[in-house]
Amino acid sequence: MYNFEYSRAKSVADAAKAASGDAEAKLLAGGMTLIPTLKQRLAKPTALIDLNGIADLAGIKRDGNNLVIGAMTRHAEVARSKDVKAVIPALAHLAEMIGDPAVRNRGTIGGSIANHDPAADYPAGVLGLNATVITNKRQIKADDFFTGMFATALQDGEIITAVSFPKPDKAGYMKFKNPASRYAIVGVFVAKTGNDVRVAVTGAGAGVFRAKDLESALTKSFLPTAVEGIKIAADGLNSDIHASAEYRAHLITVMAKRAVVACG
Ligand SMILES: Cc1cc2nc3c(=O)[nH]c(=O)nc-3n(C[C@H](O)[C@H](O)[C@H](O)COP(=O)(O)OP(=O)(O)OC[C@H]3O[C@@H](n4cnc5c(N)ncnc54)[C@H](O)[C@@H]3O)c2cc1C
Repeated sequence: MYNFEYSRAKSVADAAKAASGDAEAKLLAGGMTLIPTLKQRLAKPTALIDLNGIADLAGIKRDGNNLVIGAMTRHAEVARSKDVKAVIPALAHLAEMIGDPAVRNRGTIGGSIANHDPAADYPAGVLGLNATVITNKRQIKADDFFTGMFATALQDGEIITAVSFPKPDKAGYMKFKNPASRYAIVGVFVAKTGNDVRVAVTGAGAGVFRAKDLESALTKSFLPTAVEGIKIAADGLNSDIHASAEYRAHLITVMAKRAVVACG
């Protein structure tokens, strides 16, 4: 690792002040991605601003029909939360399938969506559920938040404080996972709220995206059979040692069908 300044922020205002004016400073959440990145010398921050001492950033609360999850809430807490299981069980299921127990006990929702790994699970939940990302500066709709591979609408030093999820009528998440890391080779989140159906796909492309053909079919008929015959084009999908673009395209339909079944 390179030398850098380390500070432990006591409040969001503290962290924002430390981050302001230093484009090379990095916020530290669970460290599950950031620390290995530093160890491999893939990043060279001037300063690490640790968010782990800010109690306000962690926790889950119900706000009317919404579920508000603090940015520093660990995946394990989301997976076992009675509130999440009651309001959006598919989200608890998603968190339960992330990585392994060590990753789930350190990794945070804020770190996951700020990082926007193209194979991460939370981006599919955030986009599929039409959530709102709350930062220290503004509120960003999910459709505007994820802008590309490892890229988001966040500005330098902008801090995610929470994510607000509206309660859907039905939701389901299914992933075909990499057996080593458990990251999604393809993961599909399906949510239905009134007549609105959203289908968010992770693992298959350069970042999370909505599958409009599947959304149209499920809007007409919210049944697993509605997506069965739909062929997704492989153009532009990821192709690597784990799966070809064609295989990923096939998996999108299969995972979407399973996610609809999971909606019950
Ligand atoms: C072995 C392994 C297996 C994994 N498997 C999966 C998996 O199956 N599915 C999956 O989805 N993920 C998986 N992950 C990723 C993991 O779940 C974490 O979500 C991810 O590493 C980032 O979260 P973090 O809290 O550790 O963030 P950090 O590593 O601390 O930070 C990541 C990035 O986000 C920024 N950041 C952090 N918090 C904020 C904030 N509040 N506001 C703005 N920016 C912020 C940091 O500056 C940094 O750039 C895996 C990780 C490992 C190491």
